Amino acid sequence: MTTLLYTHPACLEHDSGRHHPESPARLRAVLAALEQPEFSRLERHEAPEATLDDLARVHPRRHIGRILDAVPKSGHVGIDADTVLSSGSGAAALRAAGAVVAAVDAVIGKKADNAFCAVRPPGHHAEPERAMGFCLFNNVAVGALRAREVHGLERVAVVDFDVHHGNGTQAAFETDDSLFYASTHQYPLYPGTGAASETGMGNIVNVPFRPMSGSSEFRVGVTRRILPALDAFRPELMLVSAGFDAHQSDPLAQLMLEESDYTWITEKLLEIADRHADGRLVATLEGGYDLRALASSAAAHVRVLMSA
Ligand SMILES: [Zn+2]
Repeated sequence: MTTLLYTHPACLEHDSGRHHPESPARLRAVLAALEQPEFSRLERHEAPEATLDDLARVHPRRHIGRILDAVPKSGHVGIDADTVLSSGSGAAALRAAGAVVAAVDAVIGKKADNAFCAVRPPGHHAEPERAMGFCLFNNVAVGALRAREVHGLERVAVVDFDVHHGNGTQAAFETDDSLFYASTHQYPLYPGTGAASETGMGNIVNVPFRPMSGSSEFRVGVTRRILPALDAFRPELMLVSAGFDAHQSDPLAQLMLEESDYTWITEKLLEIADRHADGRLVATLEGGYDLRALASSAAAHVRVLMSA
């Protein structure tokens, strides 16, 4: 079986301004790393655009319209202090969500075991009715609801190892116990949510870490809190919000993870997928702002997916 890679050139055309950390160079760095010969077996696909019906399982249609209507013909328009649109942002956001939809369809359709979506803008801060934190639509949540409502899956899990809490995914999931969300993140840090006491209907597991926490705290937290909860939930599909900004080189946060930690957690999540979900796992890129650390960490993640 193969690992699928979904991306699209339109994801390079979302431009938040010259000094914005969420830059097209991030995606170029990830794609360049995945051009190395060891990744030649990746089966590469162009991401389709998500349909309005796909987005509307997470976001109210009026909100979707407001976001797409705000996309400028030229120049930049800010939705909030750090979420900025350019002329290419609408198409990029539709491709980013569409990548996860297509990957979910392919993995459930047994075309591959697993998939990685190399896309931007990221999605995990996007709440159902609020774009924020560099995110327009919640790509991973759109994929989760596609799996449940189109494919009839009864239990879908998202694990989010981005250094920031995925407030948007939590907001989309916290009143629906067919969905499960677990996050490791630095705390306190943007966006301010993600305390361990936030548990939804018992389907939310937040594992916050103090600044300067490193590999051992991370692995203990995942092993004690997240893996047993996933085994209890028994997901039929494992989705991953794969942000790489907990790496020690990242400029936006102060967790001290290393590339080997991304290898480790990917192996653990594949084991869960193998036990409960027939191996089905779809990962999508979230943050990661040191270009070199982002590229090598994403490569480490995909290397494990290909070994499944
Ligand atoms: Zn992040």
